[in-house]
Amino acid sequence: MNRVLPVLLVLISIRSTFAQDLSEEKKSVPLNLIPVFPPLQESDFIEVSSIYGYRIHPIKNKKKFHHGIDLIVNKGKPVFATAPGIVKKSLYEKGYGNKIVIAHPGNFKTLYAHLWIKMVKKDEKVLRGQLIGFAGDTGEVTGTHLHYEIWYRDRTINPVIIWKTFVKNHKKA
Ligand SMILES: [Zn+2]
Repeated sequence: MNRVLPVLLVLISIRSTFAQDLSEEKKSVPLNLIPVFPPLQESDFIEVSSIYGYRIHPIKNKKKFHHGIDLIVNKGKPVFATAPGIVKKSLYEKGYGNKIVIAHPGNFKTLYAHLWIKMVKKDEKVLRGQLIGFAGDTGEVTGTHLHYEIWYRDRTINPVIIWKTFVKNHKKA
């Protein structure tokens, strides 16, 4: 939490126009409840190995839509809830491996996959920045990474769009 906490405090303290690019409904959700928070500590994040969108699946070798972003991180590094919410799933699933899904206010959901260890159970309440597990290589993977998805209603959103929108709206003129 040491490196994450300052970011968290900054995010909470900013009364932003982040929601400008989002719909009216999303606009009514306070910024500190939207999953703009990073799921990893900055110092643990190595690189993005797969972006959101169509790609050739590394194992199936077929063109497939990748609904999340793959963040390379060493095994055992902490993974954090990116917004407050309630754990909807905490289970093992073929493909995703150890997987956690959290429902957030305003119809947002986040998904964390290939975890080594899950630290939260279904129906548990979590805070933003709360430790929910440790990164790993469970399920179908070619290496250790965190697969991270953001959902709005029943669709995935590119997490980079969420992050970029946030940064853009906080740039000083
Ligand atoms: Zn992935």
